[in-house]
Amino acid sequence: MEIASFSATQSVMCNKLSKVGPTGAVRALSQVVLRTASARLSTFQRWERSLSSPSAQALSTAGFIYRGVADQTQCISCFIVLSRWIPEHDPDFEHRRHSPTCEFVLNRQSESANRMQSSHVHSFSSLRTPPDL
Ligand SMILES: [Zn+2]
Repeated sequence: MEIASFSATQSVMCNKLSKVGPTGAVRALSQVVLRTASARLSTFQRWERSLSSPSAQALSTAGFIYRGVADQTQCISCFIVLSRWIPEHDPDFEHRRHSPTCEFVLNRQSESANRMQSSHVHSFSSLRTPPDL
């Protein structure tokens, strides 16, 4: 059991293994097919760690595919491999932390910034709604 060392090393549990060069097949796939979250999710069919790691859904949304080995996940954009997930990990956050210049990460960030902006606009406009007379 590794529970004793859990809290002390929690922040570094999600280790960057290496920038594993993808095989030609993965690279070719990643260019087209795996650009959609649902396609990436389909690589998690053998993901048996839903209780000890973030969900396959969360990982695929964050840009990862499952490599089919242990709990190694790989980004389809920057090809970084992350493993040793624990449930407390936020796949988006870990992706950004280990690969801040990843194109996928940057796109996700601007997407969420846009979402926040539009929700601000929305709450402003509802504030300005005149009361019923
Ligand atoms: Zn990436």
